[in-house]
Amino acid sequence: MAATRNGLAVELTDLTRVYGDVRALDGFTLHAEPGEMIALLGPSGCGKTTALRILAGLDRQTSGTVRVGGRDLDRVPANKRDMGMVFQAYSLFPHLSVLDNVAFGLRLRNVSKAERRRRAGEKLELVGLSEHADRYAHQLSGGQQQRVALARALAVEPAVLLLDEPLSALDAKVRVQLRDEIRRIQLEVGTTAVFVTHDQEEALAVADRVGVMNAGRLEQLAPPAELYTQPATPFVGEFVGLSTPLPATVRAGRVQVLGHDLEALPGSVEGAGLALVRPEALTPRPVGERTSSGTARVVSVAFLGPFSRVHCALADGTDVVCQVASSSVLGLRPGDDVALELETSAVLVVPA
Ligand code: ATP
Repeated sequence: MAATRNGLAVELTDLTRVYGDVRALDGFTLHAEPGEMIALLGPSGCGKTTALRILAGLDRQTSGTVRVGGRDLDRVPANKRDMGMVFQAYSLFPHLSVLDNVAFGLRLRNVSKAERRRRAGEKLELVGLSEHADRYAHQLSGGQQQRVALARALAVEPAVLLLDEPLSALDAKVRVQLRDEIRRIQLEVGTTAVFVTHDQEEALAVADRVGVMNAGRLEQLAPPAELYTQPATPFVGEFVGLSTPLPATVRAGRVQVLGHDLEALPGSVEGAGLALVRPEALTPRPVGERTSSGTARVVSVAFLGPFSRVHCALADGTDVVCQVASSSVLGLRPGDDVALELETSAVLVVPA
C-alpha cells in the first residue's frame, strides 16, 4: 500500500463568523499538528460545522486566519485546498459505480484513467470494499456507503481529512466498527484529520486530542485522558465526564463535598469554586446504611447494560448523576430516597 505523504499542520486562529446577530464562531483558535487527529466536540449549535466549513473553504470567516502547512488559505478556493471531506449523509453519486465514485476527485484533477483505477482500487482495499467495486450505492449498506465516501475523500491523498459527524446516521454497532477503522486508516495514511462530533465517547475514542467547543469558542484542547481527569472548566467537566459541579470551598488543599472531606486534585483553585464530581464516584445506597453523606431523591434510572445511570436530585434541587454497576441498583425506582456515597479520595475544583 502506497502511503499518503504526511499531513500538514492546521492553524485556525482567532476565527469569528457572524451570521446576522448570531456569532457562530467567537474568537475560535485551534492548532493541529501534522498527522494529528483532532475531535471537535460540543453541543448542537456551538459552531463545530461552521469551523469545519471555514477550514474547507466552503464558508468564509468574518475575521481571523486559516493556515495549513504554514500557508494562509484566505485566497485559496475550496477545490484547491488539498482536503478530503466526509459528511453525515454519504452523498455518493447514484449513477456511478463504487470504483468511479472513489475515482471521481482524481478525474477532476486530470489523472489518467489507468492511474485513477489503480489509486481508487487501492483506497477501496484500504476500506475493505475491493469486492464491491462494481456495485452502485443503493446496493450497499449505510456503513458500506460511508466507507466508500471515506475512500473517495482519501483518493486524492489530501493533506487534511475533514469528517463532519460521519457516523451519526449509522446504527450503534457499525458506528463503533467504522470509528475504529477511520482511526486505523488515518494513522496508516498519515493525514491530519478534524473529526466533528457531539458524542463524547466517539471523540475520546478516536482522537489524539479533543477540542471542546462551547458558544463559538474552544474551551479546552487536550488528550482524552487529560480532558476527562482535568477538565479546565465546569462546562468541559459536565459535557465530557457528565460530572456534577457542586459548590465547594478549598482550604489548604482539602475540600468538603456531600459531607465528605476530600483532597483537592492538583490544578484545583483555592477558595470558592465548583467541585466536579464524576458519576462513577457516586453510588446511591439505601438510606440507613452506614454512610457519611447526605440524602437525595432518585429522578430516573437508565439501564445501559453492564452499568446504569441514576439521576438524583439533592435537597436544593441540584441534579446529580451516578454511574454504577447495574447489579447494584436493581429495585431502585424514581421517587426513592437514597444516600449518596462518594467513593473517591480526591476531586477537582474549578473556578465557578
Ligand atoms: P450541530 O451539531 O447541530 O450541527 P454545530 O455545532 O455544528 O451544530 P453550527 O452548524 O456551526 O453548529 O452553527 C453554529 C451557529 O450558527 C448556530 O446558532 C447556527 O444556527 C448558526 N448558523 C450556522 N450557519 C448559519 C447560516 N448559514 N445562517 C445563519 N445562522 C447560521
